[in-house]
This record gives sequence, structure tokens and C-alpha cells, in this order.
Amino acid sequence: MADECIICKIVRKEVPSQPIYEDHDLVAFPDIRPVAPVHVLIVPKEHMVNLNDVGKNDAGLLGKMLRLSAKIANDKGIADSGYRVVINNGDDGGQIVPHLHLHLIGGKPLDHKLG
Ligand code: 5GP
Ligand code: ZN
Repeated sequence: MADECIICKIVRKEVPSQPIYEDHDLVAFPDIRPVAPVHVLIVPKEHMVNLNDVGKNDAGLLGKMLRLSAKIANDKGIADSGYRVVINNGDDGGQIVPHLHLHLIGGKPLDHKLG
């Protein structure tokens, strides 16, 4: 846990969010500035900056994050229409918040350009 990390504060409930899923390892909550009708962040409770911080013991955690994204997409009714999962890493990857998080984005057609 990092004292000043905004996502750690959300995990500790010091900063409000409306969690839509929580278990021992993960929390999911809506992005505060959604770019699509569905925009959910899925985060590990443990502080890790990005994929560069992920060790071999965290493979299961990453798998859980991906499976949860599919489950939430299904719960939100966008499993069939489609959705995007994104992990921004570091400056060139567009990462603003330095705590690993997966974006689940959908509910409208998304721009297909990647770069
Ligand atoms: P990044 O660019 O780091 O991948 O994305 C960070 C995301 O966190 C952004 O989409 C931003 O809107 C979201 N965000 C930043 N601060 C907060 C917050 O306090 N609460 C919530 N729910 N989302 C946040
Ligand atoms: Zn953190």
C-alpha cells in the first residue's frame, strides 16, 4: 500500500468510489471520467505500479483481472456487443495513475486505431 496513491486510497475507502465488485484481491469501480457508457477500472488491492512490477507469483492475479473484466462486461450487457480491455503502462503508454489498473471500456463502437 502506498500512502499517497489514489487507487490505494480508493481500496482503503478513504476516497469514495462506487465499487461494483470486491474480493480479497481485487476491486472494480467506475472510472470518474468515463470515455464510454461502460468504463470500469479493475485494480489489485496490492500496490504495484504497472506490469513492470508484476512478478511470476502474480500471474493468477492478472488472470483474475481479465476474467473479472469479462464477467462485468456480461453483467453490464456488453459481452456480445463487444468491449476493450486496456492496461496503460508508463509515460509513453499513457499511464497517469501509477497503480496497476485495467480499463474495461464498451457500450459504444470504439475507434479501432491503436496508435
Ligand atoms: P491511466 O491513464 O493511468 O491508465 O488511467 C487513469 C484513470 O483513472 C483515468 O481514466 C481517470 O479518469 C481515472 N481516475 C483518476 N482519479 C480517479 C478517482 O479518484 N476515482 C476514479 N473512479 N477514477 C479516477
Ligand atoms: Zn496504490
